[in-house]
Amino acid sequence: VLDIKNLKKSFGQNEVLKDIHMTVASGEVISIIGSSGSGKSTLLRSINLLEQPTSGEILYKGENVLQKGYDLNKYRTHLGMVFQSFNLFNNLDVLENVIVAQTTVLKRQRAEAKQIALENLTAVGMDKFVNAKPSQLSGGQKQRVAIARALSMNPDVLLFDEPTSALDPEMVGEVLKTMQELAESGLTMVIVTHEMAFAREVSDRVIFMDKGVVAESGTPEEIFVNPKEERTKEFLTRFL
Ligand code: ATP
Ligand code: MG
Repeated sequence: VLDIKNLKKSFGQNEVLKDIHMTVASGEVISIIGSSGSGKSTLLRSINLLEQPTSGEILYKGENVLQKGYDLNKYRTHLGMVFQSFNLFNNLDVLENVIVAQTTVLKRQRAEAKQIALENLTAVGMDKFVNAKPSQLSGGQKQRVAIARALSMNPDVLLFDEPTSALDPEMVGEVLKTMQELAESGLTMVIVTHEMAFAREVSDRVIFMDKGVVAESGTPEEIFVNPKEERTKEFLTRFL
């Protein structure tokens, strides 16, 4: 679905993404690992155009979304994003959080949006909490609502930026379990994570980023068992 070529992103003089090549096939689960500051978040944010890339191409179904005249709003609706910090609307209850973008962005009728919201809240185990406000939920529960909200937009690709990093340790497992179920359901996912066991078990492919480049990519086996690059080995030893 996505084919990223020669992607570069600078903030002023600071070239954060140097020359990224990456493909995302339909149904694939890709984990992106790497040190703090290596550009993982910037890559995700460039893919969904929360940041404007400095140069390069992002082909979505074969068309370059960075070309003039491409319908960017439409492109954005095909990509979902789950953030470290949940980004729920605190004044809305759980159900409304999952409904609102469906009715405003996708123009779904409220009844349909509600049904889809309930299906996805059930899928993440949050259907008992439809009337709760985010402030009444644990971090893990909030993140599962955020995932249900993203799923309700029927994204072609769901991007996750460290979805468990802001959680208390006892909440991490429930969110990873939800993500694992999504992966097994065939959803296309790109996940920035520090959860190495999860990346190893759930991903089809792992990308190791270092200083703004893809330093190495391969199967979990190739990256975690037989890394080729010295910097991959060095990074991984810090997690053992
Ligand atoms: P972490 O693991 O800590 O989340 P990361 O790999 O996600 O790190 P990025 O957040 O992509 O790293 O940041 C990469 C570099 O880009 C950093 O040096 C950061 O200071 C810089 N950067 C990111 N966003 C901006 C911005 N909006 N303006 C200026 N510089 C930025
Ligand atoms: Mg980041």
